[in-house]
Amino acid sequence: MKASKMLIATLKEAPNEAIIASHILLIRAGMIRKLVAGVYNYLPLGLRTLRKIENIIREEMDQAGSLEILSSAIQPKELWEESGRWQKYGPELMRFKDRHDREFCLGPTHEEIFTNLVRNEIKSRKNLPINLYQIQTKYRDELRPRFGLMRGREFIMKDAYSFDLTYDGLDASYDLMYKTYQRIFDRLHLNYQVVLADTGAIGGSGSHQFMALSDVGESDIIYCDQCGYAADVEKATALLEKPSTTDNLKPIQEVYTPNQKSIEEVSAFLKVDKKQIVKSLVYKNLTNNQFVMVLIRGDREVNEIKLINHLQIAEHELALASYEDILNLNSVEGFVGPVNLAITILVDEEVTTMTNFVTGSNHQDYHLLNVNFKRDFDGEVLDLRKAAVNDLCPCCGKPLKIERGIEIGQIFKLGTKYSEPLKCTYQDENGQTKPMIMGCYGIGVTRTMSSIIEQNHDENGIIWPINVAPYHVVIVPINYDDPAIKEGSDYLYDKLCAEHLEVILDDRDAKAGFKFKDWELIGIPFIITVGRRASEKICEFKVRKTLEKTELSFDEAINEVKNQVLKAK
Ligand code: ATP
Ligand code: MG
Repeated sequence: MKASKMLIATLKEAPNEAIIASHILLIRAGMIRKLVAGVYNYLPLGLRTLRKIENIIREEMDQAGSLEILSSAIQPKELWEESGRWQKYGPELMRFKDRHDREFCLGPTHEEIFTNLVRNEIKSRKNLPINLYQIQTKYRDELRPRFGLMRGREFIMKDAYSFDLTYDGLDASYDLMYKTYQRIFDRLHLNYQVVLADTGAIGGSGSHQFMALSDVGESDIIYCDQCGYAADVEKATALLEKPSTTDNLKPIQEVYTPNQKSIEEVSAFLKVDKKQIVKSLVYKNLTNNQFVMVLIRGDREVNEIKLINHLQIAEHELALASYEDILNLNSVEGFVGPVNLAITILVDEEVTTMTNFVTGSNHQDYHLLNVNFKRDFDGEVLDLRKAAVNDLCPCCGKPLKIERGIEIGQIFKLGTKYSEPLKCTYQDENGQTKPMIMGCYGIGVTRTMSSIIEQNHDENGIIWPINVAPYHVVIVPINYDDPAIKEGSDYLYDKLCAEHLEVILDDRDAKAGFKFKDWELIGIPFIITVGRRASEKICEFKVRKTLEKTELSFDEAINEVKNQVLKAK
């Protein structure tokens, strides 16, 4: 490709809203352009890389025996009513009506569609197991679309769905997808970790996430470097530390704490450790307008995912109680506590190991000292806290660590969550009707593209791994008007094209320095400069990743590109 015929839309600066490297560089390298919040157009260079990532995913899915289909983004309400998700899914679901007032959504995920397809097309158990996938556009009206392709309202996902006769079959299908995902992310040169995950709105019994390790990730990974335990913070658990000694229970006492509302304030005012205070949080279940109080040690955070799982509601159906709600419950914001309050109480298990702790008194400007579980209040005990660094590993008891990751993929054992309500069934050998056992498997393709950049860039721009770079190599003539340089550049171009390599010849009328800046920003893996030694058939060969330069003969340079590209397949 001649650079003069390309759409090279590089920019010196990215808009202010771009704050992470991948967002800034995708815009500056002219790979994407924003249309509206969370919605992007892909320009030619960006699309080439996107297609290469898709193709690696496609090759590995095909290799695993999964069959590619392509379904519509438009999904009818009726299917979502069959699964019960039309109500459950909440404001992320983009809903619309057609001219006949029929209701639809733009698919955020495709469980209903694939389950419907299989129930209609698969008539015999002889056709099972089957695994179907697609690479397709998804829509989620995210509350805060941000970070470019990381969290879009429109994005590309590879989603796959497996249908088995038995749970053992599901385990095998799941295991195969797990390994396939490892192959895909290995081929994409990502530094990632597989972690245990919560099943969220998709549902089901078991799940793993694939996390690209990165400080800009929005997920916290709790892990143990001793035994290998790793879980998303939403899912992570920790051993309960039992106190070595237990104090005698002291009589409860009300103390004046004027205007001291937060844990920090109360801790400083009463000169007690935060670990000696119990935080009382009141939540409202929006499905039935009931309130629940969650008790948790003062230095801890509530894991709201564990709470919504316990309440069996969706994330958007939970809210913190308002100031007025708390007054109506006969308490006061900032002074809420579990003693003598008529409310359902959920107690994080750690609180049961504490004695003589501080809580709110439910009276303005007062707290209680020496409160004790069972003696002064009761409640249901469960694990409701967020696991934190230095908590003890639930598998081996060693201190846990934490790091940040970008969720690039997630796999789920769905079981019969969709096959049962949608009646996606088969007849077993006794003629009995049984629901198929399902799994589902997603990769955020566009988010993966951003993650590759997060892990592969420097101050000059993107450093694409060779197998996903938009082109393999660029030839930069120092002066294309010079006959020897032109002849040398054309020779290299023709030879590299003949080897089926993806080559750019930068024939633009511009300074060499300007051209180098562009190609380093865009991240072309090899940059060949043809200059003063052109007549000797010698060029300068630069590797984008290391910025290392060597003088090579034309034919050596061609061979080097060829070998590196072959190795990088
Ligand atoms: P998140 O927790 O980040 O919102 P999710 O768990 O809701 O993601 P899944 O339903 O598991 O997402 O979707 C499968 C994959 O699609 C995710 O692992 C992620 O890589 C990608 N993905 C999800 N939401 C977005 C989005 N808004 N923009 C880009 N990619 C996304
Ligand atoms: Mg997920």
